Amino acid sequence: MSEIELLNQETIDKIAAGEVVERPASVVKELIENAIDAGASIITVEIEKGGTSKIRVSDNGIGINNSEVRKAFLRHSTSKIKNAEDLNFVTSLGFRGEALSSIAAVSKLELITKTEDEMLGTLYEIEGAVEKKFEEIGAPDGSTFIIRDLFYNTLPRKKFLKSPRTEGNLISEIVEKLSLSHPEIAFQLSIDKKNRLSTIGTGKLKDCIYQIYGKEITKNLIPIDFSENAFNITGFIGNPSVIKGNRSYENIYVNERFVKSNKISKAAEEGYTGFLMQHQYPFICLMIDIDTSLIDVNVHPTKMEIRIDNSVNFEEYITDCISNALHGIEDIREDTINETPSIDKKSPVIEPYETIRYSEAKEEVEDEIKEDTNYHEILSETGGEQLSFLSEEAVKEHKIIGQLFDTYWLVEFDDSLYIIDQHAAHEKVLYEKTIKLINDKRMTTQQISPPIIVTLSSAEEDFLNDNIDIFNEIGYEIENFGGKEYAINGIPDNIYNVDAKSLFLEMIGDCINIKSGYDKSIIKDKIASMSCKAAIKGNMNLTVDEAKSLIDDLLQLDNPFHCPHGRPTIIKMTQYEIEKKFGRTL
Ligand code: ADP
Ligand code: MG
Repeated sequence: MSEIELLNQETIDKIAAGEVVERPASVVKELIENAIDAGASIITVEIEKGGTSKIRVSDNGIGINNSEVRKAFLRHSTSKIKNAEDLNFVTSLGFRGEALSSIAAVSKLELITKTEDEMLGTLYEIEGAVEKKFEEIGAPDGSTFIIRDLFYNTLPRKKFLKSPRTEGNLISEIVEKLSLSHPEIAFQLSIDKKNRLSTIGTGKLKDCIYQIYGKEITKNLIPIDFSENAFNITGFIGNPSVIKGNRSYENIYVNERFVKSNKISKAAEEGYTGFLMQHQYPFICLMIDIDTSLIDVNVHPTKMEIRIDNSVNFEEYITDCISNALHGIEDIREDTINETPSIDKKSPVIEPYETIRYSEAKEEVEDEIKEDTNYHEILSETGGEQLSFLSEEAVKEHKIIGQLFDTYWLVEFDDSLYIIDQHAAHEKVLYEKTIKLINDKRMTTQQISPPIIVTLSSAEEDFLNDNIDIFNEIGYEIENFGGKEYAINGIPDNIYNVDAKSLFLEMIGDCINIKSGYDKSIIKDKIASMSCKAAIKGNMNLTVDEAKSLIDDLLQLDNPFHCPHGRPTIIKMTQYEIEKKFGRTL
């Protein structure tokens, strides 16, 4: 063994950089956090080539005084705490004084900064921890950091970076998370000169959620507002209609710091018990404010982990507060159902019962339907009718009257009214088509760009590798992306307007629970039917012509009268029955 030697500063910095600066997204995170700590109200981020060639973060915060600039780049130099005691009361995002020295050690960095008090600002350039330029320059108040050629001197790290697109997505994700933590700050992110995200800094969390996640999620939010002695929880959670296939929609902030906490995530998910199935995850955006003396933020160099004092029954509170919020919604739902006028016995409404949770009402209605069998005589049970309604001549005579309740198509034929459930019909047609394509090995693929990247557990990974042939047959194109990550480059052609990532994770999640020694045919059926269901979900609004061709398609199937789940697709009322109801005939 050779002599023991103290490492030089450059090596120490590079080693430390390994912990803080894992990839371009970590640089962006640290620089944004500094800008937030500097009291900025506008933060602009621009990246090129996934942040590997250029990252520019600009803020209008307090700036760094000329006399402090060099110090800021020394390891463990910080203006945010003075001693270990202060660690108990950290309110800033930074406190370890490691980010700037780490970033400067592994990149070519340029800083332009000016404080309000200074006439001129400072231009500072540092390359691989070596100072290149230090001069005065005219500049606005605030700071702009430009990082070029990240990891140019740390090739092993560079080799592990993903494609610019993936790195760009990771940056986008971190900017989203950080902007949610500060709705009062206007954030802007552009990737390769294209605007990717902007929040306008109204100070309202809901506005911020809207700007990041869009209308669908914002429409389905439930507010959270809960206080206890040592902490309070505010924010929003998605109602159970917002179902996700992984945890990336779980946003947890503790004292305005974005944290990754398995414990808090689990506690929140537990609050959804009864609302979500296995492998389904909610949307949450929880702002937890907690007495700083009860948490430890100094757990990891990236400061994304925290420890919470065990004496606070913190997780329980989270579960309860979410569960209460969800049940609050439930109550409203039941109330409105109580208020709906009782369903008229003579009304031929069939469908919405499925969505009625109010079980008594459901039973009552089902009984009524049973009694009044004339109203839902299922065609398949009257063989003669079936033939005539389906025959080629008959189809020409079909008169489509229109759509009822956005769901049922009314068709007049002969002396009867036929009511076709669009959803059930669609499902049936697509199901049969898909199964046929799969059996004929003719299923086609749509390429997606950027590919969807999923991270799988070992069990999921095994399952995928064992059944990759089924996924391929159904139209998926999947390749390993390094480690446990997989890139989905193609998805079945008939799926659109659907969150393909959660669908895929749901498929895998559901299938690994099938305990039949990997019976391929069961797995194939399951995946095929999930894929069909997704195809239908994304495709609901039909024009009259489309409905006509849907009905035509339906009628050509061997068994058009039941959807894959066995529910009827078509019911019928004769003219005689209708006239009887109106008292025209006896
Ligand atoms: P930390 O954030 O943990 O203090 P950093 O290495 O990230 O450590 O930053 C070192 C110091 O540089 C900070 O404490 C702060 O005084 C100063 N600084 C860094 N970025 C900015 C910025 N955008 N605006 C003002 N000051 C900054
Ligand atoms: Mg910092």
